[in-house]
Amino acid sequence: MKGIIQDLTKTQCIALAERLGEKKFRGMQLYEGLIAGKKISEISTLSAAFKQTLLAEYEDTAAEIVERLVSSDGTEKYLFRLADGNVIEGVLMKYKYGNTQCVSTQVGCRMGCKFCASTIGGLVRNLTRGEILSQVLAVNRLQGGTAKDRKVTNLVLMGSGEPLDNYEEVVGFLRLVSAEEGICISPRNISLSTSGLAPQMRALAEEGLSVNLTVSLHEPFDSERQEIMPVAKAYTVQELLSACSYYFEKTGRRYIFEYTLIKGRNDSARHASELVRLLRGRPCLVNVIRLNEVKESGLSATTERDARAFITLLEQGGLTATLRRSVGSDIEGACGQLRRKYMETPQTLN
Ligand code: SAH
Repeated sequence: MKGIIQDLTKTQCIALAERLGEKKFRGMQLYEGLIAGKKISEISTLSAAFKQTLLAEYEDTAAEIVERLVSSDGTEKYLFRLADGNVIEGVLMKYKYGNTQCVSTQVGCRMGCKFCASTIGGLVRNLTRGEILSQVLAVNRLQGGTAKDRKVTNLVLMGSGEPLDNYEEVVGFLRLVSAEEGICISPRNISLSTSGLAPQMRALAEEGLSVNLTVSLHEPFDSERQEIMPVAKAYTVQELLSACSYYFEKTGRRYIFEYTLIKGRNDSARHASELVRLLRGRPCLVNVIRLNEVKESGLSATTERDARAFITLLEQGGLTATLRRSVGSDIEGACGQLRRKYMETPQTLN
């Protein structure tokens, strides 16, 4: 693969233009074109000769939308093709306060969570910062947005991959996407979700980036958590909680726990009361969702009624908990399924 030009900052684009014998402002035009979500070949302000020189070193685009599904509730789902032919998924959810895009940070994932489709084929490779950024730029452009008038206002790092397992590129991405001269999405509007890599959670607290930290807890008991999330063998729930406290201490940001309800596994009153015992009094929220069933996992979702009862137990225990409503259910089943479908029968899509 050639270089990913979206990895570059504005300053680096200018330096690149100068190295290639162009004027400084050509580097600025290049950067503006990229932030507008254009491929190198589409930036009309640049000369054909300059573009040709760039294309000898860099891919024309990092992440191209090759499939778009639109739900009756407005949610959109995308399949992006990367320059090396790998594919990743993304989602755009439309809310009253703005549009939230879910982005991927790796092709596949090596965390091995039993309920998750993204991990089935293991980790293929990390994405670069520019490949992560490109997903946002492409969707913003598709929605008719610009850098000044953004149509993507919020981001969640909840697509395929474990963001903290690709730490350097993800932090680089957070700096690029929040840069004032770029698309400028505030870290306060960005949520980073992790399966719980405690040392990297602590490192993130030191970065001076006030992103929202979301931790995929899913189980309050270590032994049971280890059964569905292998990463739990490396870090105990107590280690996660202490890393969360550190994050709060350093950033002043409340943190969120994701809790996916799996029928007969983690949805009992015993689980609810242990969650209350662990989390009461902490500056946190609990986001409860019902499992999106992945056929390979053999796990099933807790019923809507039992999910409500579970939330009530958490609330009675003094926690702030919400049942996240499922959106876009008519366009695809579980997260990760679009990519799997593509890999099984790529010729059916585009
Ligand atoms: N690797 C990161 C981010 C990606 S997953 C993490 O683990 O947090 C984003 C969220 O979706 C996580 O909370 C994850 O546990 C959850 N998730 C994965 N598969 C799911 C499924 N089939 N049903 C419901 N939630 C799922």
